[in-house]
Amino acid sequence: MEFNADLHIHGRFSAATSSDMDFRKLARGAKQKGVHLLATGDCLHPTWLKEIREMEEVEEGTFELDGTRFILTTEVEADKRVHHLLLFPSVSAVEAFSEAVERHTTTLRSDGRPKLRMTGEEIAQVARDVGAHLGPAHAFTPWTGIYAHFGSLKECYGDLADDITYLELGLSANSDYGDGIEELRDVTFLSNSDAHSPQPVRLAREFNTIEAGDMTFDQVILALTREKGCRVMMNVGLPPEEGKYNRTACTRCFRQFDLEQVLARRWRCMCGGTIKKGVRDRALELARKQGTQRPKHRPDYIYMIPLAEIIMRAIGHSSPFTGKVRARWEAIITEFGNEIDVLLHVPVNDLRESAGEDVARAIDSFRQGKVTVIPGGGGRYGTVLLPGQDPEEFAPPMDSSEKQRTLFDY
Ligand SMILES: [Zn+2]
Ligand SMILES: [Zn+2]
Repeated sequence: MEFNADLHIHGRFSAATSSDMDFRKLARGAKQKGVHLLATGDCLHPTWLKEIREMEEVEEGTFELDGTRFILTTEVEADKRVHHLLLFPSVSAVEAFSEAVERHTTTLRSDGRPKLRMTGEEIAQVARDVGAHLGPAHAFTPWTGIYAHFGSLKECYGDLADDITYLELGLSANSDYGDGIEELRDVTFLSNSDAHSPQPVRLAREFNTIEAGDMTFDQVILALTREKGCRVMMNVGLPPEEGKYNRTACTRCFRQFDLEQVLARRWRCMCGGTIKKGVRDRALELARKQGTQRPKHRPDYIYMIPLAEIIMRAIGHSSPFTGKVRARWEAIITEFGNEIDVLLHVPVNDLRESAGEDVARAIDSFRQGKVTVIPGGGGRYGTVLLPGQDPEEFAPPMDSSEKQRTLFDY
C-alpha cells in the first residue's frame, strides 16, 4: 500500500509549540491534510507519552486515533546543539532509552525535545542498545543541523555512522542538496514538517509517500532501509528557497551575500549584524563535485506549499489565517476531502467551482512550476510569487548580482 507520512512533529511540551497540540487535533489535522501516519514527537516526555498510551495500540509501537496512525518518535539535542531524530519500536524501548540518558540531561521532564549532554555517537549507541533508529534532523540547518558542525556522518557518529539509514533534509533543502554528498548515496532522505501546530498550514507541509505492507513501525523501517520491496517513493516539500535559511544572509537585516563576499567581510553585515551561512552554500561546500549523479533508489522530490498559502497569494492577503482565506479553504476541503489531493491530484477543471477561478489557476501554476521563489535566508522565509506578481514588493535586500531563480533552476 501507499501512504503519506510525516515523521517529525512536536507536542505541546516543546518550546514554542501551540497549546492546541494534542492527539485528537493532530488526527483531525492529518485527515484534512491527507496524511495517514504521523510521528508522535516528544515521546520521551512523560506526560506526552502517557497521552500516546491512551490511544489504541494496533501493533506494538504503532498507535491509532480517529483513523490516523502514529509511531513513537522524538527529536533530541546533543552536544554542539546538533539535533537528531529517533524512531522507537515500542514503549518499553522509549522507557529504556530514557533510563539510559537520564543522568546526561536535566530537561527530560520539562522539554519535549530534551537536551542531552552526549555526543552523536553516544546517543547512537544507546539507540542501538534499545533497538531504536536515529538520523540527523534538518541536516543542513545552521546552528542545529549535523553539517553545521561536522564535515561528515563519521565525525558525528564515529564507528556507528553505518547505523544511519535516514537523514532529514529540512525545510530549506531538497534531495539535490544531499545528492552531491558521497556518503549519503545509500541513505534514505526524509522530508518532514517539524510542525509545532496541528493546523494543515504547518502539519505535513513536508511529508513522505511510503510504499510498504502496512502503516506500522516495522514497515516504516523496512521502507527506510529499502528492504522487501518497501521504500520511500516520493518526498514532498516546500521549494527549498522558501526555507528561512536557504541563502547566506544577515540574521538582523536579512541582506543576502555570496560566500566570497562573506569571507571578505568576516561574517559581519554592513548593518553590524551577523551573517549566517545558508543551507544551499553549505550543501555546495560539502558536495564532492558538481553534477554528481543521483543514486537510482532516490525518489522524486515534489514541491508543494500549504493550500492556505496558495489561497492567500491568489486573493492577495498577507496571512494564511484571515477569515476569507479560512472560508475558501473550508469550501475546498469540504468538497474534496484533503489538501494533498487538491494540491497534487484533483484535475484543475474540477477545482474551479468550489476553489474559485483564481485559486484553481494558482494551484495549476504551482503544479506546472510557473511560480517564482524569492529565496529566504538569515531566518526569514522566502516568498512564492504567482505569475504576474511583482517581485519588488516582496524582495529582501540583495547584495549580490544574483538573479532570482525559478523553481526549476535546480
Ligand atoms: Zn530540530
Ligand atoms: Zn544586516
